[in-house]
Amino acid sequence: MAIIIPKTELKIIKKHAAEIFPYEACGGLLGRLEGADKVIVKVYPAENRFGKIAWDSFEIEPKDMLEMDKISRKENLEIIGFYHSHPNHPAIPSSLDINASWPYYSYVILSVKGNGPENVVDVKSYLMPDKNSAPVSEDVVIG
Ligand SMILES: [Zn+2]
Repeated sequence: MAIIIPKTELKIIKKHAAEIFPYEACGGLLGRLEGADKVIVKVYPAENRFGKIAWDSFEIEPKDMLEMDKISRKENLEIIGFYHSHPNHPAIPSSLDINASWPYYSYVILSVKGNGPENVVDVKSYLMPDKNSAPVSEDVVIG
C-alpha cells in the first residue's frame, strides 16, 4: 500500500511548506483509491488556524474543509488525507498529531529547514489507526 503523489502536486505542497516556514503549513490531499493504493490528484493548500502559535499545532480552517469537500464532490475525488509541515523538526508524527488524527486518513508530514522548496528535506506519510498505538508509516511514491 502506497500513497502516490504526482510531481506537480508535490511541488505545490513543498512550496507552501517552505513559504510558511518557520510556521506550520497544512492542507488537504484529494484523490482516489486504486486497489490498495491512494492516488493523489489534487492538493489543497489551506490556512492553519494555529499558524503562528507553535511549530506543531495545525487545524485546517473550516472554510477550507468545506471548499475541499465541494471540490471533491464536483471532481469525483475524495479527501484521502492531509499534509502539514514540521519546521526544524523531523517528519515524524508528534503526540499532538496522534491525538488529533482520524483513523481513515493519510497524514503526510514535510520536514522543513528554511524558506525555499530545496529546504524541504523529508516527506513521509503515516496512518494513525488509533490514539494508543504507534503511527504506521506508508510508502510515498512520486508519480
Ligand atoms: Zn505534526
